Amino acid sequence: MARRLADRTTRIASSPTMAVTATVDRLRRAGVEVIDFGAGEPDFATPEAVKAAARRAIDENFTKYTPSSGTADLKRAICDRYRADYGVEYTDAEVIVTAGGKQALYNAALALFGPGDEVITHAPYWPTLTEQIKLADATPVLVRTHADDGFAVHAEAMLAAITPRTRGIVINSPCNPTGALIAEDDLAEIAEEAARRRIWVVVDLCYERLIYDAVPHNLAAVLNRHCRDLAVLCGSASKAYAMTGWRCGWALGPADLVAAAGAIQSHATSNVSSITQKAAVEALTGSQAPVRAMLDEYRTRRDRLSDWLADEPLLKCRKPVGAFYMFVDIGDVLSADGFRTSNDFAQALLDDARVAVTPGEAFDAPGFIRISYATSLELLREGSRRLLSFVRTHAGARGATAAS
Ligand code: PMP
Repeated sequence: MARRLADRTTRIASSPTMAVTATVDRLRRAGVEVIDFGAGEPDFATPEAVKAAARRAIDENFTKYTPSSGTADLKRAICDRYRADYGVEYTDAEVIVTAGGKQALYNAALALFGPGDEVITHAPYWPTLTEQIKLADATPVLVRTHADDGFAVHAEAMLAAITPRTRGIVINSPCNPTGALIAEDDLAEIAEEAARRRIWVVVDLCYERLIYDAVPHNLAAVLNRHCRDLAVLCGSASKAYAMTGWRCGWALGPADLVAAAGAIQSHATSNVSSITQKAAVEALTGSQAPVRAMLDEYRTRRDRLSDWLADEPLLKCRKPVGAFYMFVDIGDVLSADGFRTSNDFAQALLDDARVAVTPGEAFDAPGFIRISYATSLELLREGSRRLLSFVRTHAGARGATAAS
Protein backbone atom coordinates (compact mmCIF):
# COMPACT_ATOMS: atom_id res chain seq x y z
CA MET A 1 0.00 0.00 0.00
CA ALA A 2 1.25 3.48 -0.80
CA ARG A 3 2.91 5.24 2.07
CA ARG A 4 0.65 8.00 3.38
CA LEU A 5 2.87 9.80 5.88
CA ALA A 6 6.59 10.45 5.85
CA ASP A 7 8.88 7.80 7.36
CA ARG A 8 9.98 10.06 10.17
CA THR A 9 6.48 10.05 11.62
CA THR A 10 6.88 6.35 12.30
CA ARG A 11 10.06 6.92 14.27
CA ILE A 12 8.67 9.30 16.86
CA ALA A 13 5.83 9.34 19.35
CA SER A 14 3.98 12.40 20.60
CA SER A 15 5.05 13.79 23.95
CA PRO A 16 4.00 11.40 26.75
CA THR A 17 4.47 14.09 29.37
CA MET A 18 2.04 16.35 27.57
CA ALA A 19 -0.39 13.41 27.32
CA VAL A 20 -0.80 13.46 31.12
CA THR A 21 -1.65 17.17 30.97
CA ALA A 22 -4.22 16.44 28.24
CA THR A 23 -5.88 13.70 30.35
CA VAL A 24 -6.08 15.98 33.39
CA ASP A 25 -7.58 18.66 31.19
CA ARG A 26 -10.21 16.28 29.82
CA LEU A 27 -11.20 15.05 33.30
CA ARG A 28 -11.46 18.58 34.65
CA ARG A 29 -13.65 19.67 31.77
CA ALA A 30 -15.90 16.71 32.58
CA GLY A 31 -16.20 18.11 36.12
CA VAL A 32 -13.84 15.64 37.81
CA GLU A 33 -11.60 17.12 40.51
CA VAL A 34 -8.02 15.99 39.94
CA ILE A 35 -4.79 16.83 41.77
CA ASP A 36 -2.23 17.35 39.07
CA PHE A 37 1.33 16.26 39.85
CA GLY A 38 1.97 15.75 36.16
CA ALA A 39 2.46 19.30 34.96
CA GLY A 40 6.02 20.23 34.11
CA GLU A 41 5.46 23.93 34.56
CA PRO A 42 5.54 26.49 37.34
CA ASP A 43 2.22 27.18 39.05
CA PHE A 44 3.38 30.75 39.76
CA ALA A 45 2.13 33.72 37.78
CA THR A 46 4.59 35.44 35.47
CA PRO A 47 6.20 38.30 37.48
CA GLU A 48 4.26 41.59 37.32
CA ALA A 49 7.06 43.64 35.77
CA VAL A 50 7.35 41.12 32.94
CA LYS A 51 3.63 41.27 32.23
CA ALA A 52 3.77 45.07 32.30
CA ALA A 53 6.55 45.07 29.70
CA ALA A 54 4.38 42.96 27.43
CA ARG A 55 1.42 45.31 27.85
CA ARG A 56 3.70 48.22 26.98
CA ALA A 57 4.87 46.38 23.87
CA ILE A 58 1.28 46.06 22.70
CA ASP A 59 0.41 49.67 23.53
CA GLU A 60 3.48 50.88 21.67
CA ASN A 61 2.55 48.74 18.68
CA PHE A 62 5.61 46.57 18.97
CA THR A 63 3.58 43.94 17.16
CA LYS A 64 5.36 43.39 13.86
CA TYR A 65 7.92 40.91 12.61
CA THR A 66 11.30 41.20 14.29
CA PRO A 67 14.57 39.80 12.92
CA SER A 68 13.83 36.09 12.84
CA SER A 69 16.71 35.23 15.16
CA GLY A 70 15.51 37.76 17.77
CA THR A 71 15.71 41.46 18.59
CA ALA A 72 19.08 43.05 19.28
CA ASP A 73 17.81 44.06 22.74
CA LEU A 74 16.92 40.56 23.75
CA LYS A 75 20.12 39.08 22.36
CA ARG A 76 22.07 41.60 24.42
CA ALA A 77 19.96 40.82 27.50
CA ILE A 78 20.69 37.10 27.14
CA CYS A 79 24.43 37.65 26.67
CA ASP A 80 24.51 40.08 29.63
CA ARG A 81 22.71 37.56 31.85
CA TYR A 82 25.21 34.81 31.01
CA ARG A 83 28.14 37.16 31.53
CA ALA A 84 26.79 38.23 34.92
CA ASP A 85 25.80 34.75 36.09
CA TYR A 86 28.49 32.57 34.52
CA GLY A 87 31.29 34.91 33.43
CA VAL A 88 31.13 33.89 29.76
CA GLU A 89 31.25 36.19 26.73
CA TYR A 90 28.97 35.80 23.73
CA THR A 91 28.34 38.27 20.91
CA ASP A 92 25.14 39.01 18.97
CA ALA A 93 26.20 36.62 16.25
CA GLU A 94 26.51 33.82 18.79
CA VAL A 95 22.97 33.89 20.18
CA ILE A 96 19.55 33.08 18.77
CA VAL A 97 16.14 33.63 20.37
CA THR A 98 13.84 30.63 19.99
CA ALA A 99 10.30 29.51 20.79
CA GLY A 100 11.23 27.98 24.13
CA GLY A 101 14.22 25.85 24.96
CA LYS A 102 12.55 23.20 22.84
CA GLN A 103 13.15 25.07 19.60
CA ALA A 104 16.71 25.93 20.63
CA LEU A 105 17.41 22.20 21.02
CA TYR A 106 15.53 21.33 17.83
CA ASN A 107 17.43 23.89 15.76
CA ALA A 108 20.67 22.50 17.15
CA ALA A 109 19.68 18.91 16.35
CA LEU A 110 18.74 19.81 12.76
CA ALA A 111 21.84 21.95 12.26
CA LEU A 112 24.29 19.39 13.69
CA PHE A 113 23.03 15.83 13.25
CA GLY A 114 22.05 13.72 10.27
CA PRO A 115 21.75 10.20 8.85
CA GLY A 116 24.35 7.78 10.17
CA ASP A 117 25.26 9.99 13.13
CA GLU A 118 25.11 8.76 16.71
CA VAL A 119 24.27 11.17 19.50
CA ILE A 120 24.95 10.15 23.09
CA THR A 121 22.62 11.16 25.87
CA HIS A 122 21.70 9.85 29.30
CA ALA A 123 18.60 7.98 30.45
CA PRO A 124 16.20 8.50 32.21
CA TYR A 125 15.65 11.47 29.92
CA TRP A 126 13.20 14.13 28.89
CA PRO A 127 11.71 12.42 25.82
CA THR A 128 11.95 15.40 23.48
CA LEU A 129 15.74 15.14 23.54
CA THR A 130 15.80 11.69 21.95
CA GLU A 131 12.84 12.33 19.65
CA GLN A 132 14.55 15.41 18.23
CA ILE A 133 17.69 13.39 17.53
CA LYS A 134 15.51 10.95 15.60
CA LEU A 135 13.76 13.78 13.77
CA ALA A 136 17.21 14.83 12.60
CA ASP A 137 17.57 11.28 11.18
CA ALA A 138 20.34 10.47 13.67
CA THR A 139 20.43 7.70 16.28
CA PRO A 140 20.27 8.34 20.03
CA VAL A 141 22.72 6.27 22.07
CA LEU A 142 21.64 5.95 25.68
CA VAL A 143 23.83 5.83 28.75
CA ARG A 144 21.96 4.69 31.84
CA THR A 145 22.20 6.64 35.07
CA HIS A 146 21.21 4.97 38.33
CA ALA A 147 19.04 5.77 41.32
CA ASP A 148 21.60 4.44 43.82
CA ASP A 149 24.04 7.25 43.07
CA GLY A 150 21.43 9.92 42.52
CA PHE A 151 21.29 9.43 38.73
CA ALA A 152 24.70 11.05 38.33
CA VAL A 153 25.97 11.41 34.76
CA HIS A 154 29.50 9.98 34.83
CA ALA A 155 32.05 11.09 32.24
CA GLU A 156 33.52 7.60 32.06
CA ALA A 157 30.21 6.02 31.03
CA MET A 158 29.43 8.77 28.52
CA LEU A 159 32.89 8.56 26.94
CA ALA A 160 32.72 4.76 26.76
CA ALA A 161 29.73 5.14 24.43
CA ILE A 162 31.73 7.09 21.83
CA THR A 163 32.24 5.39 18.46
CA PRO A 164 33.61 6.70 15.17
CA ARG A 165 30.02 7.67 14.31
CA THR A 166 29.47 9.88 17.35
CA ARG A 167 28.59 13.45 16.30
CA GLY A 168 27.27 14.84 19.52
CA ILE A 169 26.66 14.49 23.23
CA VAL A 170 23.50 15.95 24.75
CA ILE A 171 23.40 16.61 28.48
CA ASN A 172 20.44 17.86 30.48
CA SER A 173 21.39 19.38 33.85
CA PRO A 174 19.50 19.85 36.09
CA CYS A 175 17.83 16.81 34.63
CA ASN A 176 14.16 16.29 34.03
CA PRO A 177 12.98 13.86 35.43
CA THR A 178 15.73 12.98 37.94
CA GLY A 179 16.68 16.41 39.29
CA ALA A 180 20.35 15.39 39.07
CA LEU A 181 23.19 17.74 38.12
CA ILE A 182 26.27 16.78 36.18
CA ALA A 183 29.41 17.53 38.20
CA GLU A 184 31.63 20.20 36.66
CA ASP A 185 34.57 17.77 36.65
CA ASP A 186 32.61 15.18 34.71
CA LEU A 187 31.55 17.76 32.17
CA ALA A 188 35.14 19.00 31.87
CA GLU A 189 36.32 15.47 31.11
CA ILE A 190 33.61 15.04 28.50
CA ALA A 191 34.37 18.44 26.97
CA GLU A 192 38.11 17.75 26.73
CA GLU A 193 37.52 14.49 24.94
CA ALA A 194 34.87 16.10 22.72
CA ALA A 195 37.42 18.75 21.72
CA ARG A 196 39.98 16.06 20.88
CA ARG A 197 37.51 14.10 18.77
CA ARG A 198 35.59 17.07 17.33
CA ILE A 199 32.26 16.06 18.86
CA TRP A 200 29.54 18.63 19.64
CA VAL A 201 28.37 19.06 23.22
CA VAL A 202 24.81 20.36 23.58
CA VAL A 203 23.62 21.21 27.08
CA ASP A 204 19.98 21.66 27.99
CA LEU A 205 20.08 24.23 30.78
CA CYS A 206 16.36 24.80 30.93
CA TYR A 207 16.35 24.37 34.74
CA GLU A 208 19.73 26.03 35.42
CA ARG A 209 18.20 28.71 37.67
CA LEU A 210 16.36 26.12 39.76
CA ILE A 211 19.13 24.58 41.86
CA TYR A 212 18.43 24.30 45.58
CA ASP A 213 21.77 23.72 47.19
CA ALA A 214 25.06 25.54 46.82
CA VAL A 215 26.53 23.12 44.30
CA PRO A 216 29.00 24.34 41.65
CA HIS A 217 27.17 24.25 38.33
CA ASN A 218 28.82 26.66 35.94
CA LEU A 219 28.46 24.48 32.87
CA ALA A 220 28.76 27.47 30.55
CA ALA A 221 32.23 28.30 31.88
CA VAL A 222 33.37 24.67 31.80
CA LEU A 223 32.39 24.32 28.16
CA ASN A 224 33.89 27.68 27.26
CA ARG A 225 37.16 26.57 28.79
CA HIS A 226 37.41 23.21 27.06
CA CYS A 227 35.43 23.19 23.80
CA ARG A 228 33.93 26.61 23.09
CA ASP A 229 33.75 26.06 19.32
CA LEU A 230 31.77 22.82 19.81
CA ALA A 231 29.48 23.84 22.68
CA VAL A 232 25.82 24.78 22.43
CA LEU A 233 24.08 26.18 25.51
CA CYS A 234 20.29 25.93 25.31
CA GLY A 235 18.30 27.91 27.86
CA SER A 236 14.78 29.07 28.48
CA ALA A 237 12.68 31.69 30.21
CA SER A 238 9.95 29.12 30.80
CA LYS A 239 10.84 27.67 34.19
CA ALA A 240 12.99 30.38 35.76
CA TYR A 241 10.49 33.18 35.14
CA ALA A 242 7.24 31.18 35.08
CA MET A 243 6.83 31.97 31.38
CA THR A 244 5.98 28.60 29.82
CA GLY A 245 3.13 29.95 27.69
CA TRP A 246 5.12 32.87 26.31
CA ARG A 247 7.52 30.62 24.41
CA CYS A 248 10.94 32.10 24.81
CA GLY A 249 14.25 30.29 24.87
CA TRP A 250 17.69 30.73 23.35
CA ALA A 251 20.84 29.06 22.20
CA LEU A 252 24.38 30.35 22.65
CA GLY A 253 27.10 28.82 20.51
CA PRO A 254 29.67 29.38 17.80
CA ALA A 255 28.59 31.80 15.05
CA ASP A 256 28.44 29.19 12.26
CA LEU A 257 26.06 26.99 14.26
CA VAL A 258 23.95 29.98 15.32
CA ALA A 259 23.75 31.17 11.70
CA ALA A 260 22.63 27.71 10.56
CA ALA A 261 20.05 27.55 13.36
CA GLY A 262 18.89 31.02 12.28
CA ALA A 263 18.47 29.91 8.67
CA ILE A 264 16.43 26.87 9.76
CA GLN A 265 14.26 28.95 12.06
CA SER A 266 13.75 31.66 9.42
CA HIS A 267 12.01 29.09 7.24
CA ALA A 268 10.25 27.22 10.03
CA THR A 269 8.69 29.72 12.42
CA SER A 270 10.45 33.10 12.02
CA ASN A 271 10.72 35.22 15.13
CA VAL A 272 9.40 34.52 18.60
CA SER A 273 6.38 36.76 19.31
CA SER A 274 7.53 40.40 19.39
CA ILE A 275 5.56 40.91 22.61
CA THR A 276 7.17 37.93 24.28
CA GLN A 277 10.59 39.25 23.34
CA LYS A 278 9.93 42.56 25.11
CA ALA A 279 8.70 40.64 28.14
CA ALA A 280 11.82 38.46 28.13
CA VAL A 281 14.11 41.50 28.08
CA GLU A 282 12.44 42.65 31.29
CA ALA A 283 12.67 39.16 32.80
CA LEU A 284 16.40 38.92 32.12
CA THR A 285 17.45 42.49 32.89
CA GLY A 286 15.01 43.42 35.67
CA SER A 287 15.11 42.38 39.31
CA GLN A 288 15.89 38.69 39.75
CA ALA A 289 14.11 38.66 43.11
CA PRO A 290 11.08 36.75 41.72
CA VAL A 291 13.39 33.92 40.62
CA ARG A 292 14.84 33.67 44.12
CA ALA A 293 11.38 33.82 45.73
CA MET A 294 10.08 31.00 43.52
CA LEU A 295 13.19 28.93 44.18
CA ASP A 296 12.72 29.34 47.95
CA GLU A 297 9.12 28.22 47.66
CA TYR A 298 10.04 25.19 45.52
CA ARG A 299 12.69 24.26 48.10
CA THR A 300 10.12 24.33 50.92
CA ARG A 301 7.79 22.16 48.87
CA ARG A 302 10.56 19.73 48.00
CA ASP A 303 11.52 19.34 51.64
CA ARG A 304 7.96 18.89 52.86
CA LEU A 305 7.03 16.45 50.11
CA SER A 306 10.16 14.47 50.76
CA ASP A 307 9.25 14.24 54.49
CA TRP A 308 5.73 13.10 53.69
CA LEU A 309 6.82 10.44 51.21
CA ALA A 310 9.48 9.20 53.64
CA ASP A 311 6.61 7.86 55.79
CA GLU A 312 6.08 5.08 53.28
CA PRO A 313 9.08 2.75 52.84
CA LEU A 314 7.57 1.26 49.68
CA LEU A 315 8.18 4.60 47.97
CA LYS A 316 11.87 5.31 47.53
CA CYS A 317 13.24 8.66 46.52
CA ARG A 318 15.97 11.18 47.18
CA LYS A 319 15.68 14.90 47.38
CA PRO A 320 16.39 16.30 43.93
CA VAL A 321 19.15 18.91 43.69
CA GLY A 322 17.52 20.86 40.88
CA ALA A 323 14.35 21.25 38.75
CA PHE A 324 11.00 20.60 40.48
CA TYR A 325 10.38 16.88 40.22
CA MET A 326 10.55 14.06 42.74
CA PHE A 327 11.45 10.86 40.90
CA VAL A 328 10.08 8.02 42.95
CA ASP A 329 11.04 4.36 42.71
CA ILE A 330 7.79 2.38 43.01
CA GLY A 331 9.37 -0.99 42.18
CA ASP A 332 8.27 -2.38 45.56
CA VAL A 333 4.64 -1.61 44.77
CA LEU A 334 4.66 -3.41 41.40
CA SER A 335 3.99 -7.14 41.08
CA ALA A 336 2.83 -9.77 38.62
CA ASP A 337 -0.59 -10.01 40.28
CA GLY A 338 -1.07 -6.30 40.97
CA PHE A 339 0.23 -3.29 39.10
CA ARG A 340 2.66 -4.70 36.59
CA THR A 341 4.05 -1.39 35.38
CA SER A 342 4.29 2.20 36.51
CA ASN A 343 1.89 2.98 33.66
CA ASP A 344 -0.71 0.69 35.30
CA PHE A 345 0.03 2.24 38.67
CA ALA A 346 -0.35 5.81 37.39
CA GLN A 347 -3.59 5.00 35.60
CA ALA A 348 -5.11 3.37 38.70
CA LEU A 349 -3.92 6.25 40.89
CA LEU A 350 -5.70 8.65 38.58
CA ASP A 351 -8.86 6.54 38.33
CA ASP A 352 -9.15 5.71 42.04
CA ALA A 353 -7.44 8.53 43.90
CA ARG A 354 -7.70 11.32 41.32
CA VAL A 355 -4.02 12.11 41.46
CA ALA A 356 -2.13 12.54 38.17
CA VAL A 357 1.57 11.62 38.06
CA THR A 358 3.76 10.88 35.06
CA PRO A 359 4.73 7.21 34.74
CA GLY A 360 8.45 6.46 34.40
CA GLU A 361 7.89 4.86 30.99
CA ALA A 362 7.63 8.41 29.62
CA PHE A 363 11.30 8.89 30.53
CA ASP A 364 12.51 5.40 29.67
CA ALA A 365 12.48 4.56 33.37
CA PRO A 366 9.91 1.86 34.07
CA GLY A 367 9.37 1.31 37.79
CA PHE A 368 9.36 5.02 38.60
CA ILE A 369 6.83 7.82 38.76
CA ARG A 370 7.56 11.53 38.47
CA ILE A 371 5.83 13.89 40.86
CA SER A 372 5.96 17.55 39.92
CA TYR A 373 5.98 19.82 42.96
CA ALA A 374 5.28 22.90 40.92
CA THR A 375 2.00 23.07 42.78
CA SER A 376 0.79 24.53 46.07
CA LEU A 377 1.73 23.06 49.44
CA GLU A 378 -1.94 22.37 50.23
CA LEU A 379 -2.36 20.33 47.05
CA LEU A 380 0.93 18.58 47.66
CA ARG A 381 -0.21 17.66 51.16
CA GLU A 382 -3.57 16.34 49.98
CA GLY A 383 -2.14 14.59 46.91
CA SER A 384 0.59 12.85 48.86
CA ARG A 385 -1.96 11.80 51.50
CA ARG A 386 -4.00 10.19 48.71
CA LEU A 387 -0.91 8.63 47.15
CA LEU A 388 0.21 7.09 50.44
CA SER A 389 -3.23 5.77 51.24
CA PHE A 390 -3.52 4.32 47.71
CA VAL A 391 -0.17 2.58 48.06
CA ARG A 392 -1.06 1.19 51.50
CA THR A 393 -4.44 -0.08 50.34
CA HIS A 394 -2.90 -1.90 47.41
CA ALA A 395 0.13 -3.16 49.28
CA GLY A 396 -2.27 -4.39 52.00
CA ALA A 397 -4.44 -6.16 49.42
CA ARG A 398 -1.35 -7.80 47.92
CA GLY A 399 -0.19 -8.92 51.32
CA ALA A 400 -3.62 -10.45 51.98
CA THR A 401 -3.60 -12.30 48.62
CA ALA A 402 -0.11 -13.58 49.24
CA ALA A 403 -1.09 -14.84 52.69
CA SER A 404 -4.29 -16.55 51.55
N1 PMP B 1 14.32 20.86 28.55
C1 PMP B 1 13.72 20.17 29.51
C2 PMP B 1 14.53 19.16 30.27
C3 PMP B 1 12.38 20.37 29.81
O1 PMP B 1 11.80 19.67 30.78
C4 PMP B 1 11.65 21.31 29.05
C5 PMP B 1 10.18 21.56 29.28
N2 PMP B 1 9.48 20.61 29.91
C6 PMP B 1 12.33 22.02 28.06
C7 PMP B 1 13.66 21.76 27.83
C8 PMP B 1 11.70 23.02 27.17
O2 PMP B 1 10.85 23.91 27.72
P1 PMP B 1 10.48 25.22 26.94
O3 PMP B 1 10.39 24.87 25.50
O4 PMP B 1 9.19 25.66 27.52
O5 PMP B 1 11.60 26.18 27.20
